Amino acid sequence: MSLARTLRPLVRAAGASHASTSLTPLSRATLSRSARHGRQQLRCLSTTPQRRYEADNVTTEGEPYDLESMTPTPIFHLTETESAMKETVAKFANETILPKVREMDEAEKMDPAIVEQCFEQGLMSIEIPEKYGGAGMNFSAAIVGIEELARVDPSVSVMVDVHNTLVNTAILKYGTEESRKKWLPKLATNTVGSFCLSEPASGSDAFALKTKAEKTSDGYKISGSKMWITNSVEANFFIVFANLDPSKGYKGITAFIVDKDTKGFSIAKKEKKLGIRASSTCVINFDDVEIPASNLLGEEGQGYKYAIGLLNEGRIGIAAQMTGLAWGAWENAARYVWNDRKQFGSYVGEFQGMQFQLAQAYTDITAARALVFNAARKKEAGEDFVKDAAMAKLFASQVAGRVSGSAIEWMGGMGFVREGLAEKYWRDSKIGAIYEGTSNIQLQTIARLLQREYAA
Ligand SMILES: Cc1cc2nc3c(=O)[nH]c(=O)nc-3n(C[C@H](O)[C@H](O)[C@H](O)COP(=O)(O)OP(=O)(O)OC[C@H]3O[C@@H](n4cnc5c(N)ncnc54)[C@H](O)[C@@H]3O)c2cc1C
Repeated sequence: MSLARTLRPLVRAAGASHASTSLTPLSRATLSRSARHGRQQLRCLSTTPQRRYEADNVTTEGEPYDLESMTPTPIFHLTETESAMKETVAKFANETILPKVREMDEAEKMDPAIVEQCFEQGLMSIEIPEKYGGAGMNFSAAIVGIEELARVDPSVSVMVDVHNTLVNTAILKYGTEESRKKWLPKLATNTVGSFCLSEPASGSDAFALKTKAEKTSDGYKISGSKMWITNSVEANFFIVFANLDPSKGYKGITAFIVDKDTKGFSIAKKEKKLGIRASSTCVINFDDVEIPASNLLGEEGQGYKYAIGLLNEGRIGIAAQMTGLAWGAWENAARYVWNDRKQFGSYVGEFQGMQFQLAQAYTDITAARALVFNAARKKEAGEDFVKDAAMAKLFASQVAGRVSGSAIEWMGGMGFVREGLAEKYWRDSKIGAIYEGTSNIQLQTIARLLQREYAA
């Protein structure tokens, strides 16, 4: 059964129970009643699948969250919907994606059937409300799904991540109602999206972008080149950042929607990469691409704000991709050393020198996951999560690199060959420190925010 079908009733139930219970502060009587039953009543911050996008601090019912009155849950506590997401995606990843992972990596191509199945499963519309044909879940559910996919294939995971956390969110947050009605049903069912910010001369310094937009009698004309664009082979829908008024510097940056079929749009080059090779990464040229006025996303000159906001959220998704990857690499090696490989008459995982490394790595993964879930929960609670997202991405990518590298060594020669997946996890891990802000850029963000807090 598809994820969408499995989850929809759960989402409705979660929404209903939320409406009736979670806005009510826990009274003393409730707490003592719970205590009498031997446990305190716990409430997960993310039992709120239908948050309003217009205002981040209110529930669907328009009432403010009463966070003070909620008893915090353990950080890895999942709601019923999120648990169902985890279970269903794990099953889908193991049964459908796993048999194709090696083949897709060798071919450097995403199997179109996998893309189609991601749509069928509801994985391409996790946060899109049901009224636009989406699965209507919350941000944490997306994080859970991205992590589970990366456990098996970080390439499929990033396709789903970019589509959901950057593209769908951009339309939900900044699109007009007309554009939501036009695009979201497509993005939910059959149209992959891409997010085009980086250019040949602007990476970390993203707002130095050179792509230009100019007004025409009935819309806009875009000219320039974008580089490193994820999903560009599979996508038909592109969010493009271009400068409408370079005299205003970054304040001229504006976001537009471009359809792949528009005249003047072309894919100039597909990159051959070290890792996440099934995920397409291309250079795109915009040669006087004319679009209608309705393809303006949000307001003119607000593109830089949108990009910052979207990437802050997106980073939690990349962090989840990295924790999923680390976990997958660890499990792959753990199974081998504890079940398959014997030396000196014992499974190699029984030697203390190996056990300590496995224990340390698992601890590191758990710490990275805690940062990821904390950032996601804070975002959902409407709290400031920018530093948390940066710390999560920084640390999760470091852990992914360390654990997947060690996992190769734990498996000896079998970790080094392309028969299994150990070497692929390590290759795939390298991207975590680069896209959606390099590790230095995350450190810069963390330090800037800390300085703001601590400098006299
Ligand atoms: C596989 C892949 C997929 C991608 N997908 C997308 C996508 O879908 N959409 C999109 O818009 N972009 C995408 N990108 C682009 C990605 O976001 C950029 O590669 C990234 O922001 C880094 O830019 P850069 O590669 O130009 O590196 P540079 O900015 O040239 O950085 C090179 C080095 O200099 C360091 N550095 C730069 N500035 C500073 C500073 N101020 N302080 C300290 N160190 C600094 C960096 O940390 C890095 O180590 C993708 C990239 C890759 C490789």
